[in-house]
Amino acid sequence: MTRKTLGFIPLIWQCAFCNTQNPGPIKSCTSCGAPQPADVEFLQVDEERFNFIKDEALIRMAQAGPDIHCPFCGTRNLATADTCKQCGGDLSWDGKQRESGQRVRTVAEAQTRRPPAPPPTEPTPKRKAPTAAILIISLAVIVGCIILLVMLLRTDDVTATVSDLQWERSLAIEAYTNVTDSDWRDQIPANAEVTNCSMIYRYTSAQPQVNATEVCGEPYVKDTGTGVGEVVQDCEYEVYDDYCEFTMMAWVVVGTVTESGRDQSPFWPVLDLEPDQREGDRGETYTIVFRDGGDTYRFTTSDERIFSRAELGSRWTLQINQLGGVQALEPAN
Ligand SMILES: [Zn+2]
Ligand SMILES: [Zn+2]
Repeated sequence: MTRKTLGFIPLIWQCAFCNTQNPGPIKSCTSCGAPQPADVEFLQVDEERFNFIKDEALIRMAQAGPDIHCPFCGTRNLATADTCKQCGGDLSWDGKQRESGQRVRTVAEAQTRRPPAPPPTEPTPKRKAPTAAILIISLAVIVGCIILLVMLLRTDDVTATVSDLQWERSLAIEAYTNVTDSDWRDQIPANAEVTNCSMIYRYTSAQPQVNATEVCGEPYVKDTGTGVGEVVQDCEYEVYDDYCEFTMMAWVVVGTVTESGRDQSPFWPVLDLEPDQREGDRGETYTIVFRDGGDTYRFTTSDERIFSRAELGSRWTLQINQLGGVQALEPAN
């Protein structure tokens, strides 16, 4: 969030003795002469619009920093003063700076004792409080997961006979060819040819950026500690960037050749490759079917070493979980 200054406006303070509204920079009441108390609050008169100050000297005074209260007589002095204009005391010795930076209340807010409205900010998506229904569903899901885990982990030992074998081996065929894709311009590979770009929203930045749209909240008034208010606005920057389509040469899968069988002699497919083609990823799946009386268990693996030991009719000890899945296996002696 970047805070921008729109300008400065006059503030007032109200005399505690006669209720007169005095201009903020005036340090004693224009009606009864009472000195401005140290803890007086500066207020914004007009709620609806900002009557910006044009007097450069007054603006410089507001920018110089909060006023300093004399440690000897309490008189309010400008931030630029070295000695008290009332008693001549040294202000660098324990002079107290006025409070500053807080949001200024309007006269109407002060009269009804309302706190200042919080600084307006960008609308943020509201988060809904979880309802009872969501909590109950979450609890049910958690309980369901625990039950499933227990069923998967609890196993029974079964001795079964290998009754069937299945294998499948596949090879991908890749071709070096022109592919089309899209990405942010700075993410596109160097060897790509960019065909078409358009500026679209990418992210929101707190700081000003090139190619950004400024989005600002409502202006509000800050106390500068001088009797002059600073009108500020909090802004964010929606950054736009080039999103492009591009083409480039790359290896892509154009097909898969598969061999399968129901014996213990798996083999790889033989590829008939074109000049611009190559062998891609390999895949292998081996399934052993066990039978124990009327029950059938299937075990699938990509490990050929287990498959090669599972001769038809051989006896194996299986660990079966509560869902009928084979968790572990070894030849029975
Ligand atoms: Zn007064
Ligand atoms: Zn003094």
